Amino acid sequence: MINLRDYQTKIVADCRQAFREGDRKVVVQLATGGGKTVLGSFMVHGAAQQRALTCWWLVHRRELISQASKTFYDMGIPHGIIAGGHASDPLARVQVGSIQTIARRLDKMPPPDMIVFDETHHIGAAQWSEIFARFPQAYVLGLTATPWRLDGRGLGQWYARMVQGPTVAELIERGSLSPYRLFAPSAPDMRAVQTQAGDYKQRALAEIMDKPSITGDAVQHYRQLCPGKRAVAFAVSIEHSRHIAAEFNAAGIRAEHVDGTMDIAARDAAVARFVAGDTLILSNAELFGEGFDVPAIEAAILLRPTKSLSLYLQQVGRALRPAPGKAQAVILDHAGNSLTHGLPDDEREWTLDDREKQRRAAESAAPVRQCAKCFRVYRPAPKCPGCGFAAPVAVREIEKRDGELVEVDASAVKEHRKAEERACKSLADWQRLGAARGYKPGWALKQFQIREQYRSRRKAA
Ligand SMILES: [Zn+2]
Repeated sequence: MINLRDYQTKIVADCRQAFREGDRKVVVQLATGGGKTVLGSFMVHGAAQQRALTCWWLVHRRELISQASKTFYDMGIPHGIIAGGHASDPLARVQVGSIQTIARRLDKMPPPDMIVFDETHHIGAAQWSEIFARFPQAYVLGLTATPWRLDGRGLGQWYARMVQGPTVAELIERGSLSPYRLFAPSAPDMRAVQTQAGDYKQRALAEIMDKPSITGDAVQHYRQLCPGKRAVAFAVSIEHSRHIAAEFNAAGIRAEHVDGTMDIAARDAAVARFVAGDTLILSNAELFGEGFDVPAIEAAILLRPTKSLSLYLQQVGRALRPAPGKAQAVILDHAGNSLTHGLPDDEREWTLDDREKQRRAAESAAPVRQCAKCFRVYRPAPKCPGCGFAAPVAVREIEKRDGELVEVDASAVKEHRKAEERACKSLADWQRLGAARGYKPGWALKQFQIREQYRSRRKAA
């Protein structure tokens, strides 16, 4: 038996009403961690069991097949799998399929009565559209946390109606998602990085992010802000992810790298060691961002800058699953994503319209402030909610210029930082400031020495 939460029950009822009223294409917007798979499976189960409908559950990544299959198995839903390397069961009423495989076998398959597109913000890619257009009579249910495409096209071209679940803030409020603290100890300068297909170019990302200085910074802030917590690190590439794991291991923090090309048993074993707490850092490039669920994550380390609000929210969402003994998730953003896209629980407006017609969700995000002392990112407030630091705190704010969102350094904060430095007299002063800013120990000594040299030179002159 599947037990739905009350808001999931409402979403299911709203979708069924849409179907009854003749809107056969419905997209469900529900935050990562809100339980899209569960409510989608519930609908598939009902359609197959009670109405004897043929249902396809389509995913676009190999890793999501076994995940969906496991959910169906747990829920007692008999199903076949249509994907390379899996034996098929053509008689099963419910089929979990890879979009790539299904698109190739369309001619051989009996038409489905209902299709569920998981992560449906990718719709519009050729194979998705082909399947979509092939069965105009089918009931279609699209699932996504972020119903907009990177190219700005709204999902209104495909879907007639959108059913929305509670916001991230509401889910946190009701305990369905964990509260969090988000820190942005450093942010890369992405202004010169070229874009491809709506997101940063992969190679340029690696050049900017795959550096010992940035990885070392991530290790240091993990130690400082969430030592001993099980954290998933998000890298720009498999190689980068390996470097991250190596750096944590070198610092004595047990870390492992996992990716989609690994033997599934080896990957599952690594995940199991992470769940057991034997491994503290699980580093990956694209594996855990979308759909692939790892329980027991207490922290997320963002090292993959992205222009995709969707990817950002999914990565952060991995850490927001509530768990026994987990009071607050910790998000360490070394990618500047929170400064670009806002906080995970900002109120965002979703519509099925194209981007020109709707306000960009990122624009409707409230500006964020960053604590100069502890790097906490928060909505404008007189004091840092983390450490209470009350001096000018707006390090970065999001500003709209010519329709583009750009980060600006508030000059007030630069002034504030200079004033802090002018106030340092002794080496101990510099060390206190360095520690407060999370700098490496060598920084204070260097600053002190530079000032001392300058002073003695002035004396001599
Ligand atoms: Zn603070």
